[in-house]
Amino acid sequence: MTRRRRVYEGKAKVLFEGPESGTLVQYFKDDATAFNGVKKATVTGKGVLNNRISEYLMVKLAEIGIHNHFIRRLNMREQLIKEVEIIPVEVIVRNIAAGSICTRLGIAEGTPLPRPIIEYCFKSDELNDPLVSEEHITAFGWANPLELDDIMSQSLRVNDFLLGLFAGIGIRLVDFKLEFGRYYETDEMQIILADEISPDNCRLWDAVTNKKLDKDRFRRDLGDVEDAYQEVARRLGIIPEGGPGDLQGTTAIQ
Ligand code: UDP
Repeated sequence: MTRRRRVYEGKAKVLFEGPESGTLVQYFKDDATAFNGVKKATVTGKGVLNNRISEYLMVKLAEIGIHNHFIRRLNMREQLIKEVEIIPVEVIVRNIAAGSICTRLGIAEGTPLPRPIIEYCFKSDELNDPLVSEEHITAFGWANPLELDDIMSQSLRVNDFLLGLFAGIGIRLVDFKLEFGRYYETDEMQIILADEISPDNCRLWDAVTNKKLDKDRFRRDLGDVEDAYQEVARRLGIIPEGGPGDLQGTTAIQ
């Protein structure tokens, strides 16, 4: 890990130079942060779980034609990805009111939204990822109108697919955050899904009890953060009953 060139370090992941040009290695840390880094802790095993959960979801999305940066998982904490030029916009898709939309618009948490709502935030830690409109995105050239249309339609497809996938395992997909990037292959440019999809950037509630199975357990000091992430992985069928510790055996790693 130390011999490779570190390309970028974020709050929960590190990107290293990949083995071939145009590739990167995405390393998942156990660090958890909230409120733009004000609250910090280590959640043992989180990186391992997010690596697996994101792999699973990206592979499923690729199967339905949502192109994304995932190439293959390398080990417990790393995956090989395509290098993209990240569009500095966080795309938030909401099905049920929770988090910032509740305080901003005075809606009770848990209220189903009339239809999926997409919001955009400008990716800037210094500015606390402010909410922006399509006008800001196109006027400041973060993405052009065609790219933004593509981002919006891909995001809604991801939402439709993930809503069904999670409903099938007794989980309500409340909201989530996506990031997209420009992928250059020969002369062609394509907007593809990047980053990760995991309980770090989704709100996932048990369909029966509404128990939170996501990062809100950390943000709101609800405890059992790792157990909740494990529960998601277990329901997706990607970790054995005993939890990720069981994955250390050579047979389980594949
Ligand atoms: N989200 C994220 N990264 C961010 C902001 C939000 O992954 O920097 C996710 C968050 O986990 C939730 C959804 O986007 O699933 C909507 O978050 P919200 O705007 O409600 O912000 P929060 O309440 O998390 O501050």
